[in-house]
Amino acid sequence: MKSILRILRATKELNRYYIFIMACAVLTSVTALASPFAIKGATDAVVQHSGEGWGRGLNVIIWFAVAYLVAQLLNTLFTNIGGYLGDVMSQRMRTMLSVRYFDKLLSLPLSYYDEELTGTIVSRLNRTIMEITRFIQMFSNTFASLLITTASVLIISGIYYWPLAVLLLIIFPVYFWLTSKTSEKWQVWEGEKNADIDVASGRFNEVIGQIRVVKSFGQERRELSIFRQLFHSTIGTTSQQSRYWHKMDVYRLAFLNIVFFLLYLLIFVRTLQGKFSIGDMVLLIQLMGMAVQPITSLSWVVDAAQRAIAGSKDYFDVMEREVDPRAVALTQGELTEKEPEPVKAEPGQEIIRFENVTFGYEGEGDVLHDIDLSIRRGEKIAFVGESGGGKSTLMSLLEGLYDPRSGSVTVDGMNLVEGNLQKLRSQIGMVFQDASLFSGTIAENIAYARPNATREEVREAAIKANADQFIRGFADGYDSLIGERGLKLSGGQKQRIAVARAILKDAPILILDEATSALDTKAERAVQKGLDELMAGRTSLIIAHRLSTISAVDRIVTLRDGRIDEVGTPAELARSGGIYAELLGLQNSSSKADKNRLKSYDIVG
Ligand code: ADP
Ligand code: MG
Repeated sequence: MKSILRILRATKELNRYYIFIMACAVLTSVTALASPFAIKGATDAVVQHSGEGWGRGLNVIIWFAVAYLVAQLLNTLFTNIGGYLGDVMSQRMRTMLSVRYFDKLLSLPLSYYDEELTGTIVSRLNRTIMEITRFIQMFSNTFASLLITTASVLIISGIYYWPLAVLLLIIFPVYFWLTSKTSEKWQVWEGEKNADIDVASGRFNEVIGQIRVVKSFGQERRELSIFRQLFHSTIGTTSQQSRYWHKMDVYRLAFLNIVFFLLYLLIFVRTLQGKFSIGDMVLLIQLMGMAVQPITSLSWVVDAAQRAIAGSKDYFDVMEREVDPRAVALTQGELTEKEPEPVKAEPGQEIIRFENVTFGYEGEGDVLHDIDLSIRRGEKIAFVGESGGGKSTLMSLLEGLYDPRSGSVTVDGMNLVEGNLQKLRSQIGMVFQDASLFSGTIAENIAYARPNATREEVREAAIKANADQFIRGFADGYDSLIGERGLKLSGGQKQRIAVARAILKDAPILILDEATSALDTKAERAVQKGLDELMAGRTSLIIAHRLSTISAVDRIVTLRDGRIDEVGTPAELARSGGIYAELLGLQNSSSKADKNRLKSYDIVG
C-alpha cells in the first residue's frame, strides 16, 4: 500500500483527477444505494395498499419507481464520468511514469547499462508501468465506489440489525486472508512463467533478428525445440497454479455461501417475526447483494495490487538511482540546436590531457594504469595495443562516459570530473566499428547530431564521406528509409553514412575506434577516403586495425598491460624495437603464428 501511495505522491500533478474521481465514486455509491431504498418504499406501499385498486397506492408506487429511475440514471452518468476520468488519468499517469523513466535512463551513467539486461530495462517500461497504471485505473473505475458502497451497506445493515453487520464483517478478513495467501503462491508461479516466457521471447527476438546466422548454421530445429520447451513448461506451471487457485476459490466461495446462508436466514426469520417489514426484507436482500460484489472482485484486486506493488518497487529502484549531476543537464532544457562551443586551444597547443589516469570497470580490476598523455590540437595520434588492452576504454574516458578511479582527464582546459558533459560531447565526433544507424531516412541519420541541417549541408557531408554517389543511386535518394522496413545497406555503405554523420557534426576532436575493421578491403578503401576527409584539420585519435593506415599519423601510443609503453612518431617507433616495430616485422609474414600474433593486437596484415 505504501508503494501505491508513493506513486500517487509522485504524480501530484494528477491530484485534480484523484479528487474528481473520488467525488464520482461517492456519487456513484450514493445513487446505487438509493435504488434499494426506492424499491423498499415501493414494496412497503404495495403491501400497505394491496387490494385497494387504483388508489393512493398507485401514486406512491409511481413516485418510488421514478425515484428508482432517477437514481439509476444518475448512477449510470456518474459511473461513466468517473470511468472517463479514470481512463484519462491512468493514461496520463502512464505517460508521466514512462517519460520520467526514459529521462532517468538517459541520465544514468553507462555503467548502469553494463549491469542491466536490455530486456529487463525494456520490460520495465512495458510491463511494470502498465501494471501500476492498470491497477490505479481499475481501482478508480470500479473498486473505489464498490468499497464506499460496501462500507455504507455495513452501516445500514448494522442500523437495521447488528448481527447482520457482524456477519458481513467477518467475511472480509477471512476472504482477504484466503485471497492474499492464494495470491502469494500464485505470484511465485506467475513469476516462473514470466521468466520462461521472457527467456523464450528474448531468444525469439534474437533468432528473428539474426535469422541468417541460424539458417546458415542449420540450427532451426534446436532453436525451435528450446522455444517449445520453455513454452511447454509454462503449461505445467499453469496447471499447478490454476488447480491451487481453484481449490482455494472453492474454500473461499463455500465460506461465502455459508455466511450468506446465515444472513438470509436471519433476514427471513426476522421478517417472519414481524421485526422487519417486507420492504425492509427486500431492501436488505438487495444490500447484501451489493456487498458481495467487491468481495468477489477482491481476488482480482489483491492480485492486481500485488503486481502493482512489486512493479512500483521495481520502478522506484531505478528512479532512486543516483544520477551523475553532470548528466542531468543532458536531458533538460530547450531542444534548440546550439552551435558547438569554440575550442579554446590554438592549433598546436594541448587540447587533451590524461594525467596519471587509472581506471577499471565497476567490481573489476584496473584496466588502465598511470596513463599520462598530452595531445596537441590538430594532432593525429594512433593507439596500438593488445585486443582487450583498454584502447576503447581510454576513448570512453575521454568522452566522460566513465570517470577515472584516480587521475584526471582534461579536454580543452576542462576537467571532465566536474566539467560540462554537453560541451564536451559537442566537441567530440565518433565513428565506431559498428555504424549503429537508426531506422528513418538516410538524411535523418546523417543529420542526427544536427537535425536542422539543410539538405545542402547533408549532401555536402555525404560527398565528403564518399557516400553521395551511392545514396543518389537509390530511388528515394536521401529520403530512402533504412533499417527494419527500408533499404538494406552494406557494411561499407552504413559506415560511410556514419562518417557523413560525424562530418556534419563537425566536432574538433575525432575518435575512430576500429572504424573500418568490419569491412572488406574494397569497402574499407571507400570508407577510408571519407575518413581522411573527416580527419583533415581535426585532432584525431585513431584505433586502427591496419598498420598501413597509421603509418601517416603524427604519433603512435602503444599500450602494454594497461600502461603506456611507448610514444613516438611512426619512424621512431619503427626503430625502437617495441610493439609497433614487432608488428611491422610480422606484417608481411605469412606464417600462421605471426598472423595470430597480429590478430591479438586487433591488426590484420
Ligand atoms: P580494446 O578496445 O583495447 O580491445 P577494451 O577497452 O574494449 O579493449 O577492453 C579493455 C578491458 O576492459 C577488457 O578486459 C574488457 O573485457 C573490459 N571491458 C570492456 N568494456 C567493459 C565493460 N563495459 N564492463 C566491464 N568490463 C569491460
Ligand atoms: Mg576496442
